[in-house]
Amino acid sequence: MRIGCPAEIKNREYRVGLTPESAKELVAHGHEVWIEAGAGHGIGAFDSEYTAGGAKVVDTAEEIFAGCEMIVKVKEPQAQERAMLREGQLLYTYLHLAPDPAQTKDLVDSGATCIAYETVTGPNGALPLLKPMSQVAGRMSIQAGANALEKAHGGRGVLLGGVPGVMPGKVVVIGGGVVGFNAAQMAAGMGADTVIMDRNPDVLEKVGTHFEARASTRFSSKANLEEAVAEADLVIGAVLVVGAAAPKLVTREMLGSMKPGAVLVDVAIDQGGCFETSKPTTHDDPTYMVDGIVHYCVANMPGAVSRTSTYALNNVTLPHALRIADMGWKEAMRADPHLAQGLNVHAGRVTYPAVATELGYDL
Ligand code: NAD
Repeated sequence: MRIGCPAEIKNREYRVGLTPESAKELVAHGHEVWIEAGAGHGIGAFDSEYTAGGAKVVDTAEEIFAGCEMIVKVKEPQAQERAMLREGQLLYTYLHLAPDPAQTKDLVDSGATCIAYETVTGPNGALPLLKPMSQVAGRMSIQAGANALEKAHGGRGVLLGGVPGVMPGKVVVIGGGVVGFNAAQMAAGMGADTVIMDRNPDVLEKVGTHFEARASTRFSSKANLEEAVAEADLVIGAVLVVGAAAPKLVTREMLGSMKPGAVLVDVAIDQGGCFETSKPTTHDDPTYMVDGIVHYCVANMPGAVSRTSTYALNNVTLPHALRIADMGWKEAMRADPHLAQGLNVHAGRVTYPAVATELGYDL
């Protein structure tokens, strides 16, 4: 199969669908890989690294869309990319179609077969192609929070790990799922006084068993939240209620009880945010102040660490890409029902029930 990887064109997207190593592995399986010139620059990968692995560098995205059977990307195709998709072509990328009727219509009209990373499942209802980005965001949240706690950045001048003879900072992680677990790993690893709060007893047990004395767990009741937030130097918002907007767990009133210069990092901002005073920010201007509390609410945190994020994403997307290329998508999906969950659009129809229901398509 001939597989193409165009450069990402969405504003400030620096990741790339295939690393040089992934391209090399596809070539080793007997496939042809075409990569757009410069596509890897955002992760520090040069065209020569792709050609060394047997890929062919082509000048334009047009050549890739015209000449390749399968297109591998990161972000949903932009309008100009959608216009180049054609019948029978395979698109493998993040799509997030439910809130995007314009994209869905273009994909349906194209006649292409579109597999969405975010709906490929794993055992126990997991979403393994989303997980690495939550891992990245969780780990980054402590880095971002530690930076915002510095005096020059508006924070209260606290070093999370403390030093011998001086108490460490207090970190409260609300939500003990993938983001929260990874945030707690970084916070506890730095030596911060770390509390993980959740409402799910199984989650509390899992994180409690994992962290033992390195972090404590607390049920996320209103009273416990009020107390923990008032004592915190850094609060990480990492909750998710599947299919719903994030609950507003820290109210504006609660900011009044917090220490001036304490920091709120709202990782759940992509679901509306779990602090009442959150509003989305960008990597260019990531923080703002409300009532003396620093807020960091960047909606695409993994974009800042494009190299790590691309490699983490490729670790989970490549095995499926190899099977699709080796077996053909139909056979690969017959062999793996979890991959079959990724099929969102095929031959002019929406094939993913939640997207069809949301946007009024017949299945
Ligand atoms: P997850 O499902 O693994 O974990 C969410 C956790 O929140 C669960 O353990 C759940 O029990 C808990 N929770 C629900 N209601 C709660 C409450 N009232 N109090 C305390 N805990 C509660 O989800 P995840 O992968 O960790 O993702 C968390 C959020 O981070 C999602 O909104 C996700 O979209 C977002 N995210 C944002 C970025 C970014 O760049 N900003 C990147 C990745 C993920």
